[in-house]
Amino acid sequence: MTASDQAGGGRHRSRELTAWQGVGAELPGGWSIVQASGGTDEGYVRSDGPDEMTVELRWKRTRRQPSLEVVAEQYLKQVRKASRKLKVEYEGALAGGRRVPREKPSDLRFEWLADRQGHGRLIWCRECRRTVIAQVSGPRGEATRAVAEQILPRVRDHSDGESVEWGVYGLEFRVPKGLRLIRQRLMSGFLSLNFYGPPGRVIVERWGLAEMLLEGGFLAWHDKEYLSELKRFGGETTAVEWGEHEALVTEGREGGFRRVRALVKAFLLPGRAERFASIVWHCPDSNRVVGVRAFGRSPLELARSVAETVRCH
Ligand SMILES: [Zn+2]
Ligand SMILES: [Zn+2]
Repeated sequence: MTASDQAGGGRHRSRELTAWQGVGAELPGGWSIVQASGGTDEGYVRSDGPDEMTVELRWKRTRRQPSLEVVAEQYLKQVRKASRKLKVEYEGALAGGRRVPREKPSDLRFEWLADRQGHGRLIWCRECRRTVIAQVSGPRGEATRAVAEQILPRVRDHSDGESVEWGVYGLEFRVPKGLRLIRQRLMSGFLSLNFYGPPGRVIVERWGLAEMLLEGGFLAWHDKEYLSELKRFGGETTAVEWGEHEALVTEGREGGFRRVRALVKAFLLPGRAERFASIVWHCPDSNRVVGVRAFGRSPLELARSVAETVRCH
């Protein structure tokens, strides 16, 4: 898949946020995630840009502060292995210029030069206890350095506030802290990220080619396709204005009754009905449909809190 396939036909923006589990980077428009894996403790994200440029973010949570010089050396050893003729110019300079005497540096830069060139930054964050290795690589020359200088200073190791930032294929949103990603499907035409935690379950989804999808009308698609995944669903849908978009808000319960077969006759018993709410909107600017569904004690509140943070176009 190329970056432009991933963009799914959406127009290029001046800035793209790539963020996974709160680790992220602000990238110039036209860049896109090509790989993402891992959880809050350890993970890897790669985004590709134009002109064979790549940004990679690796993170690992440790209890103790590691020596970033050692981590950088280990990392560069792997880079050297991957490219045998590599001449590495290792730079131990501190970015930001703040170093407490006798303390290990918590922000370190490195560079390497081979058939390509790389610019990197290592950060250790006392708050989230993650070590993040960010690297921008590309063809040899000033252009790669310039892009790296734009990207590296704005690498995020965690999200501030009560929610965690996500940015995937141009879809940006935040989910409350404590919700963990439990399942994901990342395709150019369909994105789905499932989160689970104490407040309940949240599913953020996005469909491409909205014009085709909604040929029979938004409401018809919503009832026949979107809500059809719910089993024994009872509820109500209302049309609302959602920012600059038309949205459908649904509230109800899933799995209201359980059929129990007794010897004498079949009867209905109240089952474990789960409260459900969803907010779905059509974004004509990006030709996409975006939906947030939630299950839990206050699903509408939960769905709303996530949906309000979505940047869809
Ligand atoms: Zn942090
Ligand atoms: Zn939109």
